[in-house]
Amino acid sequence: SGKWAKAMDILREFEDKCGTPISKLRQVADAMTVEMHAGLASDGGSKLKMLISYVDNLPTGDETGVFYALDLGGTNFRVLRVKLGEVENVKKEFQEVSIPPNLMIGKCEDLFDFIAGELAKFVATEGEDMQIPAGTQRELGFTFSFPVKQSSIAGGTLVRWTKGFNIEDAVGQDIVEELTKAMERVGLDMRVSALVNDTVGTLAGGRYSDPDVIAAVILGTGTNAAYVERANAIPKWQGLLPKSGEMVINMEWGNFRSSHLPLTEYDESLDNDSLNPGEQIYEKMISGMYLGEVVRRVLLKMAEEAEFFGDTVPSKLEKPFILRTPDMSAMHHDSTPDLKVVATKLKDILEISNTSLKMRKVIVELCEIVATRGARLSAAGILGILKKTGRDTVKKGEEDQKSVIAMDGGLFEHYTKFRNSMQNTMNELLGEEASRNIIIKLSNDGSGLGAALLAASHSQYR
Ligand code: ADP
Ligand code: MG
Repeated sequence: SGKWAKAMDILREFEDKCGTPISKLRQVADAMTVEMHAGLASDGGSKLKMLISYVDNLPTGDETGVFYALDLGGTNFRVLRVKLGEVENVKKEFQEVSIPPNLMIGKCEDLFDFIAGELAKFVATEGEDMQIPAGTQRELGFTFSFPVKQSSIAGGTLVRWTKGFNIEDAVGQDIVEELTKAMERVGLDMRVSALVNDTVGTLAGGRYSDPDVIAAVILGTGTNAAYVERANAIPKWQGLLPKSGEMVINMEWGNFRSSHLPLTEYDESLDNDSLNPGEQIYEKMISGMYLGEVVRRVLLKMAEEAEFFGDTVPSKLEKPFILRTPDMSAMHHDSTPDLKVVATKLKDILEISNTSLKMRKVIVELCEIVATRGARLSAAGILGILKKTGRDTVKKGEEDQKSVIAMDGGLFEHYTKFRNSMQNTMNELLGEEASRNIIIKLSNDGSGLGAALLAASHSQYR
């Protein structure tokens, strides 16, 4: 009928606008490289903040002792206790706690009191074999996955919130001071020895077990990347050049934006309605917080303008963020012949029943379009880093030089079709020869371990 044709027009037009041919991906990668240079040249020189991490030495494997880590960055936070010794024999204990949603948009003190309280409870479970030497203070690596302008390895102020957090009185505050004050309030004696972004933690954790790790990328609720830069390639760095000659840079690549990005009307309205309009545009096209929401917005348009779900618009479909990326992923991976999973998700989440197989196929196709665009744009971002570091091609005399990208985040870990599309695109962009030397590797929860390792190498007792 005319309505079906209209719905297909909406889908095809969206597909068209989402197109990511290799030529476009190369433009995105080049734009990423240009912005990296600009962000390294001066503060405020680019949408990419290219934050200096103060990590100029990565773990070697010689770190020892018991250290704590805390990972705050999404809907859950984790507390971790590790006993470092041999690389293959790290003892890890952790606990995951979900953050009450009201604390994500409340007062700074309340959030940190909650975190310190949970940390104190975890410390109380310390066993015989996880004790620190008598008379010493416990030390912590704090993974904090929001943009922070650091002033040292263990100090820095919050630039802004992302990913659904919005605690106004925390912006501009020193995050380590806030945590330290909260720990004092709950009577916990612990020193914050390292403040790291999750990308930097993942890079450190990855390097600990693999010396070829040169960058880390997070694809979870949000997206971000960090990499090892030459210290003398950072014009805005005012300090002495570190002995190692290197500095880890937290790109904050989620805020990347370029005219080459295939933005659609749905992305624009999603951005307008978000907590941070105009910011994190790349993140909003790629990461787990948003992919399902883009799908919902296209379906809503199809319902409103082409009666895709019948003559009334399903009211649940009007609710922002109701369709989560894990549910989108489940529909996308539905391998039953009659797309039973799609039918169930539509019914359970959107209260839409009686869909035809033909409609369900369209929904799978829509998931494919949105996931593929995100995966291919992520690959282009990685190519940008490889180009900036001169690792995108095979060099004479270094034919065997491997470059490993440590990956983490629930989206990369669980969304198989996204992960596969990203890997395929990487190979396509690099070509056969270069792709043999570039390894994209899941570094599951490297960030907690990485923060503990950085706490160890910046310990007050070293
Ligand atoms: P965070 O990024 O919040 O620190 P994670 O790295 O665990 O936490 O990522 C969680 C995110 O990963 C979720 O918000 C969701 O978007 C995405 N995710 C989790 N499971 C799946 C899944 N099965 N399929 C697709 N995406 C998933
Ligand atoms: Mg995380």
